[in-house]
Amino acid sequence: MKVIALIAHDRCKKDMVNFARVHSVQLRDHALIATRTTGGMLEQELGLTVECVLSGPQGGDLQIGAQIAEGKIAAMIFLRDVLTAQPHEPDITALLRICDVHNVPVATNLATAELVMRSLG
Ligand code: PGA
Repeated sequence: MKVIALIAHDRCKKDMVNFARVHSVQLRDHALIATRTTGGMLEQELGLTVECVLSGPQGGDLQIGAQIAEGKIAAMIFLRDVLTAQPHEPDITALLRICDVHNVPVATNLATAELVMRSLG
């Protein structure tokens, strides 16, 4: 069992739920951590068990980033809305940076998310 972080910006939340639905059997074999609204949707709509941190704009990205820095997270799927300015852009940059610092696989689009899921087993 690995820990997988899941984050989706508002315009990408439907995509995240659909993605998680397709991969729900596999996701149930792992521990999931997500920002609050994303995690809440996955719990409500798919019945997944998700540890929810704060919402992204409230510091959730940084909380997940801290766990990545501590080596607790195996992979992250982060569906970003790249067409809308985000108030917490510095946090997003920090989160992606810390993934690179610690060589943690991070998918920022569905095509890469598929590859990450395949590699996780
Ligand atoms: P949320 O946070 O899952 O609570 O919406 C993600 C974000 O918007 O950064």
